[in-house]
Amino acid sequence: MSNKKDRINPLDVAMRQVDIAAERLKLDLGVREKIKQTKRELIVHFPVKMDDGSVKIFTGYRVQHNMTRGPGKGGIRYHPDVDLDEVKALAMWMTWKAAVVNIPFGGAKGGVQCDPKSMSLWELENMTRRFTWEIAFLIGPDQDIPAPDVYTNPQVMAWIMDTYSILKGYTVHGVVTGKPLELGGSLGRFEATGKGVFITAQEATRHLNIPIEGARVVVQGCGNVGGIAAQYFDRAGAKVIAISDSRGGIYNKNGLNVSAVLDCKKRYSCLITPEARAGVEITNEELLELGCDILIPAALESQITHKNAPKIKTKIIAEGANGPTTPEADEIFYDRGIFVVPDILANAGGVTVSYFEWAQNLQELLWSEEEISDRLTRIMKRSFAEVLNISQRDKVDMRTAALMLGIGRVAEATKLRGIYP
Ligand code: NAD
Repeated sequence: MSNKKDRINPLDVAMRQVDIAAERLKLDLGVREKIKQTKRELIVHFPVKMDDGSVKIFTGYRVQHNMTRGPGKGGIRYHPDVDLDEVKALAMWMTWKAAVVNIPFGGAKGGVQCDPKSMSLWELENMTRRFTWEIAFLIGPDQDIPAPDVYTNPQVMAWIMDTYSILKGYTVHGVVTGKPLELGGSLGRFEATGKGVFITAQEATRHLNIPIEGARVVVQGCGNVGGIAAQYFDRAGAKVIAISDSRGGIYNKNGLNVSAVLDCKKRYSCLITPEARAGVEITNEELLELGCDILIPAALESQITHKNAPKIKTKIIAEGANGPTTPEADEIFYDRGIFVVPDILANAGGVTVSYFEWAQNLQELLWSEEEISDRLTRIMKRSFAEVLNISQRDKVDMRTAALMLGIGRVAEATKLRGIYP
């Protein structure tokens, strides 16, 4: 676990973002207070049988930030640093994100404080099933629908779906998204977040007149989001010059062989094998400061702060990760003319195709890959244009514009529904 004292609290970041946008929107104080609060926060401490016969107690969270526009939606994270404030911040960002792309979901998030890398598959399954049981009364296709996040994947979603279905006594596909295709998953969901990052970054290059072909791209994190985004840039003719995982990165100024690097990560759990030296090893800090055209933070929160923002040499930042940039760093980028495609827009492809998966599950329909790709592309491009429009009209950065769009929609829905009783 990283030293908590040194960590920037993502909830502070999320709250400050709301204040900035609410001020611009001149939001009524009551509405402002309501949207800053989470609706429900569940903390569970639960036992799990470990491989050595011992029993370990884990702490898990499910937070529903706001359900005014629809059922809660948001991933489940397995990481040693998961805590209530992080989950609350991530749930809040989900609310704004769903509203930015205008899909009928509220925001939620969950997580278990654990070190999944040190656990066996069996222990992970036991932990997932027991955690699902603990939060089962809060989740469901009409209430709150989890999905994958850091260190969770389609297999984890399959265990959640199975456990929930056993509790109900019948198969409930729509309780989670990001499931394997064999269990009601959607075509295109695995790629959706990385693809959405690529689409919005490409819209940014068009806006700024930067050719995507030959553009130098740096990617922090090579999981579901970073790895897939890197592949899309590579296929479009951009040059991915650096990519990293939690241990550090690999850099080649002439461009990496993206598929070889990702294959190496998959097979050997590292980015560079001794026999395949394709670049030089660099730290994650060095990676963020490399000269490039497009920087994709796709790992964790608060990676870019007032400390490194002045040293970042890129034209565009497209945020695959949630909350990678602090408000102070945002100001520095705005002053320096660096164009930021904020998380709640750039990585909204995941929740968008999750919505498609949920809609298919409820109707027991299967959409084609082409249909999903077309709808995703349309929504991402439309949302980018709407955010850009606000940013130009009100002379604010893209994050403030996206927050104004998302928070504005949630505030409007709140007024329309009214306060009960
Ligand atoms: P993942 O578990 O698939 O991959 C995480 C990646 O980050 C791995 O490559 C890991 O090695 C790397 N990483 C972990 N700690 C790091 C560190 N300290 N420094 C550098 N790299 C580090 O997770 P993911 O689903 O790709 O999620 C990445 C980010 O994208 C998270 O912020 C997540 O909330 C966000 N996100 C994910 C989705 C989704 O659909 N999966 C959707 C929207 C946003």
